[in-house]
Amino acid sequence: MPPHHEEEEDKPCRACSDFKTWAKLQNKGSKTAPTKPPPPQSKECPLDKEELGKSTWGFLHSMASYFPDKPTKLQSENMSRFFNIFAQFYPCEPCSLDFLDDIQKNPPKTKSRDELAKWLCERHNTVNVKLGKPLFDCSKIHERWRDGWKDGSCD
Ligand SMILES: Cc1cc2nc3c(=O)[nH]c(=O)nc-3n(C[C@H](O)[C@H](O)[C@H](O)COP(=O)(O)OP(=O)(O)OC[C@H]3O[C@@H](n4cnc5c(N)ncnc54)[C@H](O)[C@@H]3O)c2cc1C
Repeated sequence: MPPHHEEEEDKPCRACSDFKTWAKLQNKGSKTAPTKPPPPQSKECPLDKEELGKSTWGFLHSMASYFPDKPTKLQSENMSRFFNIFAQFYPCEPCSLDFLDDIQKNPPKTKSRDELAKWLCERHNTVNVKLGKPLFDCSKIHERWRDGWKDGSCD
């Protein structure tokens, strides 16, 4: 089960909401629109669901694309453990519950870099389908997250 922060139960979860929903929840009970304007871009604020998701996928895909081609048994086992633990503690509970369910049905594939990167790409595509976002072409995973596009646009 994911962590349950009882002391924070009555606080809206910013990491589980987009900014607009979070601002509305903050003002629960009030009939008027959120009174606080969104913070200026220059302020460093807690992440909402989209910001957290984008940063996290960036980290996870980069980690997969830099995983060894031929990992040791221990590296493979630890990477599987990492994803099982990560899924329990991802700080957006609905996201975490669905991701846990998905990786129980599709356990981490950690025998090589290519296998891991493809597996993770497929997990991300499962979330993309749920959210109505376009599917990513998993044959381009290392171009996106390690090598840069073949047309040289990242060089
Ligand atoms: C584990 C996890 C579970 C999540 N579950 C939910 C959820 O249940 N509900 C919810 O509302 N949000 C969820 N999110 C957040 C959601 O997936 C997005 O991160 C968020 O909506 C922002 O989307 P985005 O359009 O900026 O691009 P993102 O989906 O964050 O993608 C970032 C970049 O990754 C690349 N990319 C896209 N798809 C793939 C892929 N398949 N493989 C490799 N690279 C790819 C693209 O270049 C894209 O610009 C989850 C995030 C994570 C990390």
